[in-house]
Amino acid sequence: MTNSQNLFEKSRIHIPGGVNSPVRAFGSVGGTPLFFKRGKGAFVWDADDKAYIDYVGSWGPMILGHAHPEVIKAVCDAAQQGLSFGAPTELELEMADLLCSLVPSMDQVRLVSSGTEATMSAIRLARGYTGRSAIIKFEGCYHGHADSLLVKAGSGALTFGNPSSAGVPPETAQHTLVLDYNNVAQLEETFSKMGDKIAAVIIEPVAGNMNLVAPEKAFLDSLRSLCTKHGSVLIFDEVMTGFRVGLSSAQGLYGIKPDLTTLGKVVGGGMPVGAFGGKRDIMQCLAPLGPVYQAGTLSGNPVAMAAGLATLKLLQAPGFFENLSTTARKLTEGLASIARESGIAFSAQSVGGMFGLYFRETPPKSYAEVMQCDKAAFNRFFHFMVDQGVYFAPSAFEAGFVSMAHGKDEIERTLLCAQNYFSKA
Ligand SMILES: *Cc1c(COP(=O)(O)O)cnc(C)c1O
Repeated sequence: MTNSQNLFEKSRIHIPGGVNSPVRAFGSVGGTPLFFKRGKGAFVWDADDKAYIDYVGSWGPMILGHAHPEVIKAVCDAAQQGLSFGAPTELELEMADLLCSLVPSMDQVRLVSSGTEATMSAIRLARGYTGRSAIIKFEGCYHGHADSLLVKAGSGALTFGNPSSAGVPPETAQHTLVLDYNNVAQLEETFSKMGDKIAAVIIEPVAGNMNLVAPEKAFLDSLRSLCTKHGSVLIFDEVMTGFRVGLSSAQGLYGIKPDLTTLGKVVGGGMPVGAFGGKRDIMQCLAPLGPVYQAGTLSGNPVAMAAGLATLKLLQAPGFFENLSTTARKLTEGLASIARESGIAFSAQSVGGMFGLYFRETPPKSYAEVMQCDKAAFNRFFHFMVDQGVYFAPSAFEAGFVSMAHGKDEIERTLLCAQNYFSKA
């Protein structure tokens, strides 16, 4: 029995399923989850001291690689001064100023402790601001686990949704419409029938929770114009894409200004941080100024701020995102060309420092197309690569991530392992 297997067995006694977040359980790929005990740069080490090239990066935050010395120093220095005060600190001011200067649509921002908290609060704020209840989300997008967002499509495009989790009251789900990603006609039809009831549309501007699905520019453009026309709040959930696809995030990359933006992951540099912000007149509806309540004991925690600020400082270096994008592109283009030579139905693409691998001929444009990927083929590939010391996300339906620490050697080694696999597959 490996140490990971042993730890997993023991963890299942006092932790439901042995994990504190479901995807960690390897349920999709099968087998026992790896327990990690250390990370450095592009590598992580499991409980059995085996090293892996890490393409998960804690699901996105570790954009500088693991244990970057400047981030660790910032965290230690902050910790020396005390862990939490429940009162404002200068580090929060620094973070808010920086976020508002980097994110094109952000006039004001509030800091929270997770992506879930950010999206949940943004939805409440949009409802409070508009005085409307209905929201639109897109199938396959994930916005954290708040009740109103754990919803799957109803029986038709214009019917409200059903809970996708037990414990979510149907009455809550009935305020959420679930539409198809990249489907302009359906969006137009929905707005023409009920635009005056829609408080907000929330979207991952690059979808990264159904593998990776890139947006079509026309789709984002029509989202922006329909929300403006009908007085609905457009929320870009950039918890994953924020400072991941570029310094000005997805909204800068695609040239669209949402009304509200949610952030998480990279913004905390590996510590629990989330944020939501946007137009001043909307943000001023928040307590203590306005009637929309939102609060948090550890919000803007100084140690977490220190990690986030150190991370954001380093990713402003000239050429950072060009290099990161080149790394991701070399990986995806390399994998696609190896698979092509072996005649395997496989495609791959990247946006900035995130990427998608698909066991189908072309990159998918919707949830339905993502579901056509050959999951069994991915699972075989995943286990082979893990065995060779390459750690991709343990699910066919998650995006992958590279960091600044992933260099030529790591990419070449990954491609060599993939070549060994595809040539025999
Ligand atoms: C990860 C993620 C969330 C949830 O963030 P947590 O910090 O896990 O609560 C929300 N939205 C998107 C797009 C995400 O990728």
